[in-house]
Amino acid sequence: MSSPKREKVTCPACKTLIDRWCWRTIDLRRHPEAYEKLKTGAYFKTLCPSCGREVYEEYSMVCYDKLSGAFIQFVAGTDLEPFFYLDELLEEGQRLSKVNDREDFAEKVHILQNGRDDRIVEMCKFWTLRQFFMRISGFDLKRQYYSDEGGKELIVFENAAGERATANFPKNLYRLFDAAYRDVLKRVKAKYDEYDTEWADGFIREHLDLLEHAAEELKQKGETNGNEE
Ligand SMILES: [Zn+2]
Repeated sequence: MSSPKREKVTCPACKTLIDRWCWRTIDLRRHPEAYEKLKTGAYFKTLCPSCGREVYEEYSMVCYDKLSGAFIQFVAGTDLEPFFYLDELLEEGQRLSKVNDREDFAEKVHILQNGRDDRIVEMCKFWTLRQFFMRISGFDLKRQYYSDEGGKELIVFENAAGERATANFPKNLYRLFDAAYRDVLKRVKAKYDEYDTEWADGFIREHLDLLEHAAEELKQKGETNGNEE
């Protein structure tokens, strides 16, 4: 179900009350074109019919892909109400990722668009972060995020000055975490809702035995897990 509703927003320049369409829920299977708009924040922009100014105002929304079971909830400020009980509606195998930050929302959408599980990507980010600081010191990290450039998946490190360093997305590590945690992640469904690198750190520590077991199994199958292609 993804039907937009008419809602009001006030133009900050001329105070005109603007009637705009708000997409509170988006089914990404039915609306694959929404991915790009979600990433750019286009849903939050309206043109004021009186003064022509572009008005930007965020609102809470949920986008989902039922086939992969991923629900991403963006909470704009204190605009919680529409989806307060969403966690309780989740079915087996479905997961909900909540984010409050527009950039984090765009990142999660990007991960889903590329067919990856954001929880496992967070684990890869956590791992890559440790590797990064082992090699580079004095980088005042402000943000670390998943991206891709020219079809190549990356982990980006950004400092306060907006300078960037990148690492290849660790595909073999993703495969390893996926093999180790796929089953247990299905079972925990709504136990957690904010998946970030801090969560990934705790989760890996809590389930180290599964990781060792999966690494052993992959090794026996003759797959490497240290070197990236
Ligand atoms: Zn205006």
